[in-house]
Amino acid sequence: MTAQIIDGKALAEELRQSFKSRVDTLTAQGQQPGLVVILVGEDAASQVYVKSKVNGCLAIGMHSEKITYDAAVDQETVLKKIAELNADPAIHGILVQLPLPKHFDEEKVLEAIAADKDVDGFHAENVGALAQGNPRFIPCTPYGVMKMFEKGGVDLNGKEAVVIGRSNIVGKPMALLLINAGATVTVCNSRTRDLKFHTSRADIVVAAVGKPKFVTGDMIKPGAVVIDVGINRLPDGKLCGDVDFADCLNVAGQITPVPGGVGPMTITMLLANTIEAAERKAGIR
Ligand code: NAP
Repeated sequence: MTAQIIDGKALAEELRQSFKSRVDTLTAQGQQPGLVVILVGEDAASQVYVKSKVNGCLAIGMHSEKITYDAAVDQETVLKKIAELNADPAIHGILVQLPLPKHFDEEKVLEAIAADKDVDGFHAENVGALAQGNPRFIPCTPYGVMKMFEKGGVDLNGKEAVVIGRSNIVGKPMALLLINAGATVTVCNSRTRDLKFHTSRADIVVAAVGKPKFVTGDMIKPGAVVIDVGINRLPDGKLCGDVDFADCLNVAGQITPVPGGVGPMTITMLLANTIEAAERKAGIR
């Protein structure tokens, strides 16, 4: 059996096309969705991500701008800018690209973003709303994974789901979304005693570990849905996920590739969150 491949690139494109008419409607009402991305420092990967985010917005008619600071900038300057953006009616979404330089208190910066403009969904208020099963902004990567389940016709109700990883960005919100969808959820971490015991009985495995080819075919149940969130750079420069794709392909029922899987969905869901913020402001949602 060869697994069905869930094509994140195609789904991302389909969704972005569908966003255009929503953006046009909002713009006609004087609420062109606007996203500001704040970048501190010169981290090469962050620069690439920020560029993709800004360009993704512009390509579907949204307003987007990047604000950059030198790595040595003091936290107060960034907090002051966030306060200005919080008060700016033309801006519906504010995102601070992580990681921040070491002298920043990341939590304090994220909490400074107005909860109704927190399109990354990292503000405590939004995390709480998600935990209560009444989400306002869903963190973009797990939001994208949920869209992939929807597209793949994966019914989560009553399913055994294992999430490998417990980060605030991926693992924890992913687990909450799966719980809210009716799955029975196990969240594993680096101290989990027998990972294979958990993964091999799961109908759904989501890997968010940050270790190349970490999940192998012998760890998964035949027919399982395997979602690979990992993005790892191999010594030869190629991108690789947390799942050994070739090894799992003949065991899984459905699987996401890397590249072309979860990655393209993340920025797409950032656009979705910004549009949703503008729609809420316009009274459409
Ligand atoms: P992270 O903060 O480093 O978290 C990794 C998690 O994996 C931690 O909870 C860690 O456990 C767990 N872990 C490490 N070794 C393990 C092991 N041997 N067994 C079980 N669990 C283990 O990483 P992240 O931010 O969640 O990102 C995870 C991966 O997804 C990375 O490759 C990242 O680049 C990628 N990513 C991709 C996207 C996308 O758009 N596709 C977005 C975000 C992240 P402990 O908590 O015990 O340390």
